[in-house]
Amino acid sequence: MPIVEVAISVPLHKTFDYQCDQEVAVGARVKVPFGAKKVIGIALANKDKSSFNKLKSVEMVLDETAILDKPILDFLFWAAKYYHHPIGEVLLAAMPKNLRIGKPAIIKKMIGLPVKTSKPDFEITQEQSLAIDTILKKRDTYHGFLLHGVTGSGKTEVYLRITQEVLNQGKQVLVLVPEIGLTPQMISRFERRLKTRVVAIHSQLNETQKLDAYLMAKNTEAGVVLGTRSAIFAPMPNLGLIIIDEEHDGSFKQQSSFRYSARDLSFIRAKQTNIPLILGTATPALETLKNAMDNKLTRLTLANRAGGVMMPKVSLIDMRSNSENGHSALSKLLIEKMQQHLSKGKQVMLFINRRGYAPVFFCTECAWKSECSHCNASMIYHRHVNRLKCHHCGDEKMPEQSCPDCGEQSLEVYGYGTERLEETLSSYFSEMPIIRIDRDTTRRKKALAEHLEKINSGEPCIIVGTQMLAKGHDFSNLAMVGILDVDGGFLSTNFRATEYLAQLLIQVSGRAGRTGNQGEVVIQTRYPDHPMFHYVLSNRYTQFASGLLKQRKSAMMPPFSHQALLCANAKNKQNAEDFLREVAGLLKSINMDGVEIWGPVTNSIEKKADYYYFNLYLQSNDRAALHRMLATFNQHVDTIKLKNKVRWYLDVDPID
Ligand code: ADP
Ligand code: ZN
Ligand code: ZN
Repeated sequence: MPIVEVAISVPLHKTFDYQCDQEVAVGARVKVPFGAKKVIGIALANKDKSSFNKLKSVEMVLDETAILDKPILDFLFWAAKYYHHPIGEVLLAAMPKNLRIGKPAIIKKMIGLPVKTSKPDFEITQEQSLAIDTILKKRDTYHGFLLHGVTGSGKTEVYLRITQEVLNQGKQVLVLVPEIGLTPQMISRFERRLKTRVVAIHSQLNETQKLDAYLMAKNTEAGVVLGTRSAIFAPMPNLGLIIIDEEHDGSFKQQSSFRYSARDLSFIRAKQTNIPLILGTATPALETLKNAMDNKLTRLTLANRAGGVMMPKVSLIDMRSNSENGHSALSKLLIEKMQQHLSKGKQVMLFINRRGYAPVFFCTECAWKSECSHCNASMIYHRHVNRLKCHHCGDEKMPEQSCPDCGEQSLEVYGYGTERLEETLSSYFSEMPIIRIDRDTTRRKKALAEHLEKINSGEPCIIVGTQMLAKGHDFSNLAMVGILDVDGGFLSTNFRATEYLAQLLIQVSGRAGRTGNQGEVVIQTRYPDHPMFHYVLSNRYTQFASGLLKQRKSAMMPPFSHQALLCANAKNKQNAEDFLREVAGLLKSINMDGVEIWGPVTNSIEKKADYYYFNLYLQSNDRAALHRMLATFNQHVDTIKLKNKVRWYLDVDPID
């Protein structure tokens, strides 16, 4: 009887052979027995011999033709190899859930073609025009571009025009964005402009919609796929261009199970498909800048904002001398500036990267502080529900009435989150609407859309929010942005912390004054002399990043070297640490020249949800040597005694 080789979503680096009474299309789904269960797998090959005997039989062939066609399979095999992740898990992770669980590959509801599209009412700038022409010259071959345009320079306009040209050739376009659910504006801009079906793939869709979007991409009914990181795996037989918007954004990296970077994989997909790739951003990642320096990307610059709009004026408020009047979150100067803009009918946005009321609940007598009993982390006070919540494991409880340590009734909150900021602001600006945007106020479906609609109406208001507000939004009446409390970024142990902080400040600042008069940005800090501000204030990200790159080079840190992280976690702390010690021993015995091994060291948060986390870092200047070591490690990991007592994972090119 013929045999099919099947990939199954299990954490094993192998495939499985089954008997089958028919040939199965490579890339089609099959239902097979596995242990006591029936599981969905992907057929990889038909053969007539197997090195195993006593094969079980395929129970059902689910698809007549491939779900994962040859180009996508090649791409996924590349990814599985690069990330050293089991092929079955990779293949199944690349499909929407409904296919993964065996539902039929049928479109339930086709979205309509646009009835009316509209042209913009402006001429493109010379910079935009040059960028468009340069990219279109390479439209029929692989070529990578960095579109480095300041915030509001009209990058999206460049994407739209190039996309229309590629569509006119009968091809499809894949656009990846960080968190599309947060920026419905982006979707509607594409829908309004392009004469094609635009499908969005993101977490706010239900499973039926996700499957429909996937299948419309696959049968080429969708001209444009606009999605978050997993859309990098969308099947698009006529793919002609890939665009990664806000390429520096950390959300392109998947941070659980199959830990891929959609940005990095986009190079491979574009290369394999032989099509151009555009990485767009105002704040390129250092990896991307290095790629531009090494001529792996052609750099195109939009140095000015579109429509003659000026970049915002940025200034600092020194909180060491300005946090008077007890309200340590808001300086007098900031309040005055807010007043000025609001009285002119403008909107003001305050950015604080912490939700909840206050991050610390503590005893003023003995300094006891409320910590999560499952994590090494403070409990955050949420006032509207009067609960203490852990933002790491989700545990929550009533706040204590008196101090558990000294018994005094001397418990107070310290510090600010969005909720408390909203409250404080309403005491200063009692007449002004305040719109708070964070995960707590947007949990309900449609809530975010309603908030954004209010902001887009242009009425004067104060917007308070977390980094949900940092990216992509284009609020036309927003004149001023205030940035509170980002100093934590200077204290972080992550070597990328200042890079991330500069990107965040520039992105948040970029929301101010995007039309009309020059906007204003005010940053409150206790470190006004930090060299980073020198560059942020004068809008010289590139110079700042070049300085960071020099430092990375002299320390031989990424992107000048390559890293992998082995993380182990267990309820028993010793097991997690000992496992990594054993791993380190194994790795050293593989004895590869030029791969350094550090650790094990505890994670920056040692305990999360009752599990202790330890890290082992591998680093090398020679990517190939590092990957050879990882491959050898995977072959021998079964010999490690503690393997079944810990949870562990491998993260190639970790970002934090
Ligand atoms: P970015 O993506 O670079 O942040 P956008 O594409 O959102 O910038 O453009 C910012 C604003 O400028 C948008 O409202 C857009 O419609 C407008 N815009 C883009 N290009 C031009 C242009 N050439 N002339 C006038 N306005 C433009
Ligand atoms: Zn106490
Ligand atoms: Zn916790």
